[in-house]
Amino acid sequence: MRIFDHQTSCPNCGKKAKKHTQHYWSTDPYQGNLQVIRDKSYTQRSSHGAYKLEPVTVYNLTLWDGESYEMYCGYFCTNKCAQEFGNGAYRAGYRRG
Ligand SMILES: [Zn+2]
Repeated sequence: MRIFDHQTSCPNCGKKAKKHTQHYWSTDPYQGNLQVIRDKSYTQRSSHGAYKLEPVTVYNLTLWDGESYEMYCGYFCTNKCAQEFGNGAYRAGYRRG
């Protein structure tokens, strides 16, 4: 996988790179300065025997720095695209060295 600091698209099929995100999974609220682009947090209510426990919020967030994108296969979105592009370049006469 290759990380870019700007939006880019696959040189073979033109598909746009997807956001390079990270996941946050905790019972503490997120304190950092990354953007929350998906929030699947939920509150867990549970009881333990005769005791009712305080509800607990589980934070399940997808975070993004606002500028990083990723491509699965170097500059290409898939291995297949990299392969097609390589074969196309060869047919077009490109040779290394
Ligand atoms: Zn592609």
